Amino acid sequence: MMMTKSLHGRVAVVTGSTSGIGLGIARALARAGADIMLNGFGEPADIEALRQEIATLSHVRASYNGADMSKPAEIAGLIEAATSELGKVDILVNNAGIQHVAPVGKFPAERWDAIIAINLSAAFHASQAVIAQMRERNWGRIVNIASAHGLTASANKSAYVASKHGLLGLTKVIALETARTGVTCNAICPGWVLTPLVQKQIDAWALRDNISPDKAKDLLLAEKQPSGEFVTPAQIGAFAVFLCTEQAAQIRGAALSMDGGWTAQ
Ligand code: NAD
Repeated sequence: MMMTKSLHGRVAVVTGSTSGIGLGIARALARAGADIMLNGFGEPADIEALRQEIATLSHVRASYNGADMSKPAEIAGLIEAATSELGKVDILVNNAGIQHVAPVGKFPAERWDAIIAINLSAAFHASQAVIAQMRERNWGRIVNIASAHGLTASANKSAYVASKHGLLGLTKVIALETARTGVTCNAICPGWVLTPLVQKQIDAWALRDNISPDKAKDLLLAEKQPSGEFVTPAQIGAFAVFLCTEQAAQIRGAALSMDGGWTAQ
């Protein structure tokens, strides 16, 4: 059977793609034919195995760069490495993100700074580093992974909610600045996805209320997500691929929910 590879010839950088949603997006973009620059933390051997898996299964080029997304100079280095190793950057997925849960009065200032740096400022620095070459070729896709928490709030997540609301603002501004070009910028706003980032919150809930992790998982979904089911990294990956197609060329500056009904309430 002939496979349609809608992104053949494109090069994608996916930040925070050694785990969870970023990895799901990297796999989906590769399956659609894009060459991939992976980024994120982890054991070198595990990351190399992922890199090889993506390259081999999808018949694309795959590289890895371990830039710390809290450091602007390393972010510039990531884009430079992708451009020199893979030839260019057509697609930038700003996905790397972290969480910390505490009331404002007890929120460590250092955690606030780290969350704003990684969840928000990194998207600015990476977008700034790619925008000129995207404009030059008159084609580009910037996909920001925001959150239901970009559209609504929850207690005890001040830095995360602020960073994700900010990321939606940045998304709109870049979309307006590129509106007359072939570059688009949009945000996906997932609800709960069962990744290490959320597993930590489930485990903390189970510990606090002395209940099983499975019970905590059910309660976590019941509290916010009407579908009662997690969104999957593969579903978000497929959505990101669609945003990179020509059919999505007039989706600009949008905050696109994929949240099991969370923000419909
Ligand atoms: P995850 O913890 O599974 O993955 C995070 C990735 O970011 C990892 O690859 C990690 O190594 C990388 N990372 C963390 N700090 C980094 C840094 N300083 N520099 C470079 N890479 C770094 O988390 P996830 O759930 O897959 O989250 C991915 C994104 O999706 C985040 O922006 C998160 O806010 C967002 N999101 C997650 C959910 C959810 O329910 N899991 C919901 C909405 C939005």
